[in-house]
Amino acid sequence: MCGIVGYVGPRAALDVLVPGLEGLEYRGYDSAGVALIGAGGLTVTKTAGRMADLVAALDAEPITGSVGIGHTRWATHGAPTTGNAHPHRDCDGTVAVIHNGIVENWAALRAKLIANGHEFASDTDTEVIAHLVEDRADMDLADAVRDVMKLADGSLAIAVVRTDEPKRIVAARRGSPLVIGRGDGENFLASDIPAFLRHTKKVIAVDDDRVVDLTAESIVITDLDGNETPISEREIEWDLEAAEKGGYPTFMLKEINEQPTAITDTLRGRIDGTGRIEFSELELDNKIIRMIDKVFVIACGTSYHAAMMAKYAIERWTRLPVEIDIASEFRYRDPVLDDRSLVIGISQSGETIDTLAAIRYAKAQGATVVGLSNVVDSALARDADAVLYTRCGPEIGVAATKTFTTQLVMLQLFGLYLAQNRGTLDPGTIGNLVAAIKELPQTVERALQLEDQIRGMTGEWADTRDFFFLGRAGDFPVAMEGALKLKEIAYVRAEGYPAGEMKHGPISLIEKGVVVIGIATDSHVRAKTLSNMEEMKARGGTIVMVVEEGDEDEVASVADHVIAVPNSPDLICIVNAVVPLQFLAYHIANAKGLDVDKPRNLAKTVTVE
Ligand code: GLU
Repeated sequence: MCGIVGYVGPRAALDVLVPGLEGLEYRGYDSAGVALIGAGGLTVTKTAGRMADLVAALDAEPITGSVGIGHTRWATHGAPTTGNAHPHRDCDGTVAVIHNGIVENWAALRAKLIANGHEFASDTDTEVIAHLVEDRADMDLADAVRDVMKLADGSLAIAVVRTDEPKRIVAARRGSPLVIGRGDGENFLASDIPAFLRHTKKVIAVDDDRVVDLTAESIVITDLDGNETPISEREIEWDLEAAEKGGYPTFMLKEINEQPTAITDTLRGRIDGTGRIEFSELELDNKIIRMIDKVFVIACGTSYHAAMMAKYAIERWTRLPVEIDIASEFRYRDPVLDDRSLVIGISQSGETIDTLAAIRYAKAQGATVVGLSNVVDSALARDADAVLYTRCGPEIGVAATKTFTTQLVMLQLFGLYLAQNRGTLDPGTIGNLVAAIKELPQTVERALQLEDQIRGMTGEWADTRDFFFLGRAGDFPVAMEGALKLKEIAYVRAEGYPAGEMKHGPISLIEKGVVVIGIATDSHVRAKTLSNMEEMKARGGTIVMVVEEGDEDEVASVADHVIAVPNSPDLICIVNAVVPLQFLAYHIANAKGLDVDKPRNLAKTVTVE
């Protein structure tokens, strides 16, 4: 996930590209760069760091040109260094490319290009595109890009310039976003509308597998066979702030709705054509995977709830014992670790100080540490022995939503990866579970449709003081996360509790006016959770049941409200089940008039102990 911008027209392109990239910095921000075609040919300036660093470099050494492309990167392949920043060039510096997304077959393409004599300057997946275009130097630029799009798998929004075509940008899209802005004698392209909204409100959306040929005077869109396709243009009415939020009132709501795409991005390149799980970034010897005899999962906050799910998944699928710990507790309890221990540290930002301290401690005890982070080359990624990335793009809302569901997906895949490589589940079972994980973007999309129902239910709960979220086994982490979301953004006392444990104390708090939300998607324990919910009803609680579609009748007698989420196998279904609870917290906070994106007293990345 990153921001791309392009400009062709009479102005100095930098005057459009730099503010455009600044407008997209919310999409990614570990490095940035521009390429211009001007009198002196193709010039590229790029820097690691924020846009301010790029601006300083451009001030120090100005470049000119009225055709240009720019990129603000959010690394997926290769560290966020200046060398890996976009634009990327071919061997002789005549082609420049920017790219948002992942070229899934980059390794095979790169090996072939190197065998044919190409020299690579970066570690990115993107650079293959520059060299593939270079190999088609005798073709028209749009033909070359169409050809390359047929070779490159994965998600691509790209823009390409070539010195022999100094008045033209050719862009293409598959999976990653790309919009065109039509100006008067000038045209724009970007990942998102805010990048050019100050110049034009006339916007053209680009479909998948389309190539856009852009000059100052013309916009031509074709399919990959070169057939021209119709252009549908619309006039945007949003202001800049609304545009950054994609038309949603808050970043949190936008990010909740982004979850199907986020999960698709997380899954990209992780499951090969035969259904085998592959993690290209995970440099972990198979010998270690087979040797480990115990797993620890360590995290804080929402990530800890992902750790809870990982315990159930890894124990169920691999029969390895799993301990989970809140990072700030872990190293002070003197845990027993050795070189057969595998420690998974989870931190969205990769900078959570408690988690970093815990994994450093684990490493010092001889354990092998795998980091799970959303940020490439973060401190966690650097300190761990091996790393897994969720790759779901930056999250701006302080309360974690898409980063949580993608952590769940990665940990489910990692659990199955261990099972696959240790031979603890038969391939048929793994295949079925992997197929269900691949379906999650669709099932989560359907879960998003529950928003109206939830909004309707929660309207009357703006003043409710006590909520309980109850679940057993795989549903327990969902209960914990539902309660945490409500605490974080709606400032309500909400308890997540194991449903079977209520009778040992907290049931004394249940009375009329208390809302009790029971999650019952894990078939192992559904009947038992239902009995516990009857106990809550008998004490006067208002009962909400989250169940799978088809189970509504079973809970009708106990529940005042039933929320039915799409079916998926046990443990996998919790990704669907968490979505209505995100909406629940959101709409209660909204009904109270609170700022959900910036809840009081909270920070996105917690770098203090
Ligand atoms: N996969 C590319 C890279 O790592 C592009 C990432 C992005 O979308 O910013 O450089």
